[in-house]
Amino acid sequence: MPAIKHESNPMPNSPVIERIELTAFEIELQDMVTDRAGFGLSYQPGRTGTHLRFAVRILADSGVVGEYVPPRGRANVIMTASEALSYSLIGKPALQREKHYRTMRKLTKHIGEVGIGAIDIALWDLAGKHQGVSVCEMLGGYRDRLPAYASTLMGDRLDGLSSPEAYADFAEQCLEMGYKAYKMHGWNEGHVDEEAAMIRAVCERVGDRMIIMYDAACHLSTLADAIQIGRVCDDHGLYWLEDPYADGGVSIHGHQMLKKNIKTPLLVSEHVRNLESTTDMLVAGATDFARADPDYDGGITGCHKVAVAAEGLGMDCEVHSCGPAMRQLMAACRNANFYEVNLVHPKCANAWSLPIYGDGYSDQLDCIDANGYVPVSSSVGLAVQYDWDRIRKTAVETKIIE
Ligand SMILES: [Mg+2]
Repeated sequence: MPAIKHESNPMPNSPVIERIELTAFEIELQDMVTDRAGFGLSYQPGRTGTHLRFAVRILADSGVVGEYVPPRGRANVIMTASEALSYSLIGKPALQREKHYRTMRKLTKHIGEVGIGAIDIALWDLAGKHQGVSVCEMLGGYRDRLPAYASTLMGDRLDGLSSPEAYADFAEQCLEMGYKAYKMHGWNEGHVDEEAAMIRAVCERVGDRMIIMYDAACHLSTLADAIQIGRVCDDHGLYWLEDPYADGGVSIHGHQMLKKNIKTPLLVSEHVRNLESTTDMLVAGATDFARADPDYDGGITGCHKVAVAAEGLGMDCEVHSCGPAMRQLMAACRNANFYEVNLVHPKCANAWSLPIYGDGYSDQLDCIDANGYVPVSSSVGLAVQYDWDRIRKTAVETKIIE
């Protein structure tokens, strides 16, 4: 029997990738401290934390430049992986994103597919600029504003989100600003009694006026703890319970067991890294929502596949966190409910809203309109202007691949 030779052909009309620049730079975070590796950050009044971020520029022979700056941390790990992947793209057609996605997944299959997101998103920005349309429009287009939820920073033991009442006060503040939905990340210790008291306090204060979600961020220790918290969520009609316990948010069987014991919909798969594993969780009934994050899940290419897979199952896909790529992606998805304004706090700025946007783009707490929506620009590519002078002034390292 003859075999088919599976191949992708070159795209002769595409600009060609000539050079990729990766720049590590530092930002200062007021009233925050960060760990030395840059994985975590927390509220600390009076302190100034330094956080490493990185920026990508992909330059094509036509002169068009794709740009992306991942809004969040973990730059030490991700920039290194993105640099390694960049070598595979030099001399290749810039518009052949599907081919590059496949190549990058093959290259990173042993290391959790890290580093693909930033490169893929910059390629989408490049393609949008080449075609003169936004990424949302390239994906088919669906809407130009997104309902948002305020998603809190983790709890603290100081004077911020330091008690159930403080979480409730902040929820009320968000409600008054226009937010229709509020999600609590609790304390890192994951004590059931403390988390339960906080959920109750928030729901008793605003539960009849806001949609409430709770994200344990895998801090509850056991499945039994997750069942206890799930029953508190049931009592108050939470919209979803997210990453409940310390399996890491990846166990299909564990979440099937949890779902047998509670009624609240589960949102799991934020820590599952690819289309196939997320789809398996949906099909197995381990989660009620898919989760997709352009920075971590293969860029816009990978995440749009997740959203379409969920749509094909009649399910929803919630885009994780905030930033220009998240907005453009979600704006193209019918089956996504809320934009996550992540991670907000009553007394410090959102560290994921970078101070390097040159056009007023913001993911700070006040980025919503009076009805709780964020706008989605229809400008080209990712529809954001970066302040490259500022990035270069705070650069600590630049890698050039050509
Ligand atoms: Mg989460």
